[in-house]
Amino acid sequence: MKKRAGNILDWIYPRRCPVCDGILEKKEPYICRKCAGKLKPVEEPRCRKCSKPIRSWTEEYCVECGKGKHAYEKGYAVYPYHGPIQGSLMRFKYAQRQEYAGFYAQAIRIYGGDAIQRMQPEVLVPVPIHKKKLRTRGYNQAEVLARQLTDQTGIPMDADLVLRKKNTLPQKELDHEERRRNLREAFALKHPDKKLPYKRILLVDDIYTTGSTVDALAALLKQAGAEEVCFVAVAIGNTG
Ligand SMILES: [Zn+2]
Ligand SMILES: [Zn+2]
Repeated sequence: MKKRAGNILDWIYPRRCPVCDGILEKKEPYICRKCAGKLKPVEEPRCRKCSKPIRSWTEEYCVECGKGKHAYEKGYAVYPYHGPIQGSLMRFKYAQRQEYAGFYAQAIRIYGGDAIQRMQPEVLVPVPIHKKKLRTRGYNQAEVLARQLTDQTGIPMDADLVLRKKNTLPQKELDHEERRRNLREAFALKHPDKKLPYKRILLVDDIYTTGSTVDALAALLKQAGAEEVCFVAVAIGNTG
């Protein structure tokens, strides 16, 4: 019965390829045949903390992680944020292409499965968006992704733990520290009077760039009693 409903939905809303946006055939569950080889994961050498590509095999960390200021423990992202994944993630976020999440979650599971296993998370927590944004966009793309990841890994999701208080825009004129402070005030626990029920939390987001968002959430969750906060993302910017 469930399958039948799925088929009808496929017919009304055909699933699309996350790279070319063409309609997928039945045999192509996540990506079309033509595009399957077009996305290449980040290659080694990578930063041991954030997984960003680095230039030298002799380095362990990217410049940013080398400074040792991140509040989270470790992270994993699949693709470098350039080429076709950029357009894909833009459509995922702004053009209602929620169906791409199945492909993204599969990529995270295939390439990042070992990393996630080592993190031993009890729960997946999607990076929240402000309720005004949620109203206009209709969905939080990080939550759509986390839900798919829950389906594929069995790790439960909690989208009711943290919220975004301020609808912050990236403020380029702020320096790193100011941005950090600014972002830190942007998040809050949804139920601050309740004891945090997790020790090891895996944050889920679509894109990791400077890490200030993940850091802000990690700092907040650790203050509330979490021991380890890690992240997974579909793509990672190359700013380190
Ligand atoms: Zn395609
Ligand atoms: Zn790094």
